[in-house]
Amino acid sequence: MKIDILTLFPGMFVSPFTESIIKRAVEKGLVDINAINIREYAEDRHQQVDDYPYGGGAGMVLKPDVVIRALENTKSADAYTVYLSPQGKKLTQEIVRDLSRHSHLVLLCGHYEGIDDRILSLVDEEISIGDYILTGGELPAMVLIDAVARLLPGVLGDDASAGEESFTNQLLEYPQYTRPAIYRQKEVPAILLSGHHEKIRRWRLQQSLLKTLLKRPELLLERDFTAEEKKILAQMLFEREREDEKN
Ligand code: SAM
Repeated sequence: MKIDILTLFPGMFVSPFTESIIKRAVEKGLVDINAINIREYAEDRHQQVDDYPYGGGAGMVLKPDVVIRALENTKSADAYTVYLSPQGKKLTQEIVRDLSRHSHLVLLCGHYEGIDDRILSLVDEEISIGDYILTGGELPAMVLIDAVARLLPGVLGDDASAGEESFTNQLLEYPQYTRPAIYRQKEVPAILLSGHHEKIRRWRLQQSLLKTLLKRPELLLERDFTAEEKKILAQMLFEREREDEKN
């Protein structure tokens, strides 16, 4: 996958992608990430990229001519263009998965008061990373790239590890443990040490359902349960009722 980022601050992208998993993905040629300075597309003497907002008000707005030139020069025939914007659709794992299927992403980062609205006609989607305002689209672009890149084939050591994670299936991931088996009198659940793969799988599914129910119950409203999940939920409710009766 090729990812081009249009930004006024390309230097911000150096460190996040020269460490750890994304660094290795870049080195292996699984993802090609380029930060392009929007200022290169300014044609006037002062390389002006922003201007005062029509109608008054605080701050500066990125100019349509400069940004559209940058976009038109960067987009390929199969490019999918995203403007990182607090007004966009909120980023979810489902959107991340959809984005990971494109071969070329062009990410536009706004700054100051944002971009001239006419630029939006060249954008396929506006994406927000949450209901708060950041100074620029650079950190949201980094978040999006990190989430997308780790889904690309070959990026994670074990491809299955992306398949079972939180939100993949509208469920939070089951609890994870590592050595030592007992730490400060707290024991790892015995089933995980049993080596019984089927029982472990079922326990993990049960824990996923429970965690989601306790922490993010709204996720469960949006999903269809399998027959096995319904059975596990019914069992959990039954056990809960028995506990209540005892107390
Ligand atoms: N005036 C804009 C508004 O009220 O909608 C906010 C502009 S913000 C200060 C500057 C830039 O940061 C935006 O153009 C956008 O690219 C980026 N940005 C800020 N918050 C964001 C968020 N939550 N998600 C994605 N991008 C964001």
